[in-house]
Amino acid sequence: MRPPLRQAKAGRTAGAAPCRPSHPFTVKPLGPERKSPGPGYFSLWQLFFPKKTLVSLLQLSLRKFIITPMKSELEHFREYIRRQGLRRTTEREVILREVFEVHEHFDVEELHLRLRQKGVRVSKASVYRALRLFLDCGLVREVDYTDGHWHYEHIYGHGDHNHLRCLGCGEIVEFEAPALKTIEEQLAREHDYQIMSQQWEIKGYCRACRDSRGRVVERAR
Ligand SMILES: [Zn+2]
Ligand SMILES: [Zn+2]
Ligand SMILES: [Zn+2]
Repeated sequence: MRPPLRQAKAGRTAGAAPCRPSHPFTVKPLGPERKSPGPGYFSLWQLFFPKKTLVSLLQLSLRKFIITPMKSELEHFREYIRRQGLRRTTEREVILREVFEVHEHFDVEELHLRLRQKGVRVSKASVYRALRLFLDCGLVREVDYTDGHWHYEHIYGHGDHNHLRCLGCGEIVEFEAPALKTIEEQLAREHDYQIMSQQWEIKGYCRACRDSRGRVVERAR
């Protein structure tokens, strides 16, 4: 399954309101349902077991091989906390849960607001400190520094992706380009580097901004 990509609209132009992603996150379905064997397949076994039981037994055994368990972000974080010899606190874990409920780019202000709206009494400073830890253990990354502060996104479970950023409206589109992986490997070889993370950001103008700009130019003539 390909990791889902996000598309976030963010008011990142000078003087604009702080970014408010407006495109909802969509989760792709897990793929077509596995077909159960056709009629007549179990005719002999059916003498002993009802067909329904056989089908579910078969599906169960298939599932055992197909689903490889992935550590949850919470388990990953707890492991990190343990390794660092830090204390486990409910507050940090509540913040972490919220971070993984926002499938868009966010800033501390937004995250803090979301927590407050859910009745979580937490200071902005605590949110900052918790984010620092999530960054250090690779659950979250900094996306861009605009409007005088950082914007973040959770990356655990999302796979490699990069961003196109519109210089007009600030819209951020996520994309995957396997070719960039090749370039990365080549760079690592050429410079004898162990690359830990990378981030490509491509800036330009989206269609809507180009259209409105075109209109402005036409009017000026
Ligand atoms: Zn997500
Ligand atoms: Zn734009
Ligand atoms: Zn992103």
